[in-house]
Amino acid sequence: MYKEDTIAAVATPAGEGGVGIVRVSGPDAERIAASVFVRDEGKNNRLESHRLHYGAIRDPETGRTLDQVLLTIMRQPRSYTGEDVVEVHCHGGVFVVQRILGLILSEGARHAQPGEFTKRAFLNGKLDLTQAEAVLDLIAARTEKGVDLALGQSSGELSNWVGELREELLDIVAQVEAAIDFPEEEIELLERPVLAAKIDALRAKINVIIGTYEWGRLFREGAKVCISGRPNVGKSSLFNALIGAERVIVTPIPGTTRDMIEESINLDGLPVILCDTAGIRDTTDEVERIGVSLSLQHLEKSEAVIVVLDGSAVLTDEDKVFLSSIASKKGLVAINKSDLEQRVARDQLSQIAGDKKFVTVSAARGYGMQELKGSLRELILPMHAESTIVLTNLRHKIALMCGEHALADASSGLRQLEPPELVAVALQKVRESLEEIIGLVQNDDILERIFSKFCIGK
Ligand code: GDP
Repeated sequence: MYKEDTIAAVATPAGEGGVGIVRVSGPDAERIAASVFVRDEGKNNRLESHRLHYGAIRDPETGRTLDQVLLTIMRQPRSYTGEDVVEVHCHGGVFVVQRILGLILSEGARHAQPGEFTKRAFLNGKLDLTQAEAVLDLIAARTEKGVDLALGQSSGELSNWVGELREELLDIVAQVEAAIDFPEEEIELLERPVLAAKIDALRAKINVIIGTYEWGRLFREGAKVCISGRPNVGKSSLFNALIGAERVIVTPIPGTTRDMIEESINLDGLPVILCDTAGIRDTTDEVERIGVSLSLQHLEKSEAVIVVLDGSAVLTDEDKVFLSSIASKKGLVAINKSDLEQRVARDQLSQIAGDKKFVTVSAARGYGMQELKGSLRELILPMHAESTIVLTNLRHKIALMCGEHALADASSGLRQLEPPELVAVALQKVRESLEEIIGLVQNDDILERIFSKFCIGK
């Protein structure tokens, strides 16, 4: 399946830190450890597994000590990769760590590829594919919710769900195959609609989970929210109030926010990337024009838009353009400057903005921020709608969609009295799609694509 050589890499990020870890995995890990590690108390008997041992890393050729370290050996199969694994915990300086790695490589280990430790864990049956992918999600998680989702997947929630679905499918396959093996017992006409209904029930289950992909993507990548509105209504002030820091320069001169400014906030576990857009309007200033065209693009790509109005002023034509720009998007209207006397006509607003929610705020005073944040979260992803299994990975979604299409073929094949052989072919495709998700059927391309996204040392 794979070359059983011994691999090594630095597992901690490049840079200075308290501790740096060099990880070694494979049949030679213990031999290499024995040749470079000298235990402190001079005890050179066999190192006990799953214990930390204090000592020094010494170059066997020159006798030079490279660092004082803690070393652990985790003998197979009770290790991350399922092979013998040695970890050297040394001082976290870039040079120290690299020197120890260099020594280990010169003792015969090969530098690991990105994700190769996790790939070995998968190939040795320590993890299935969705669990291996969850490791990647966990490392990339940006909020507590992202961590929860990744942990759920790594503990096998998705694989269990796929496994149960596969069992149900195999029952159906068995009945269809019986009809092929014993043609005289051709699927009874009465049985066909029953089987088709079972298949449709599977399709419904799959569709629910496919629907969660959109949420998964939001949790992983963050939901982009643009703050738009004509100049001087208080967009930059609102942006600052939402992120809680004075990051954008606020001035009374219209058109000061020229570049796109982005900042992430955490809305009840959902990462939201706020962007402050330059006012979208005709402008003769070249720099500002660039800002304006950028902000239009950002508006298109955003998940939701907050249109800011100045509540102390009457609605202008420019305001109306902003309000209509969110007609077909997820949008909120923030009526700002509530600390001043209000002149904006609410009934006129409702006519233009339709069903969009209004929130009255004062960015300068910080009024209404909690309500605005709560409304934004509800708008992007209502908390009550979240389910325990959330697809975060496009590969899983595509496989489920292929499976669902093949199920649809099988279901209509049964109803249209197609021969059982044809139905069985469609069901076989469903099975492959499900097995591909958890890695029961493997293909080198898929493995390559998954593990190349990992960092080296993971
Ligand atoms: P932008 O051009 O839309 O980004 O607007 P700014 O955030 O730069 O604000 C324009 C002006 O409005 C500045 O002088 C702000 O101090 C002022 N401003 C912003 N929010 C409020 C508010 O809630 N109340 C009051 N009174 N003034 C505000």
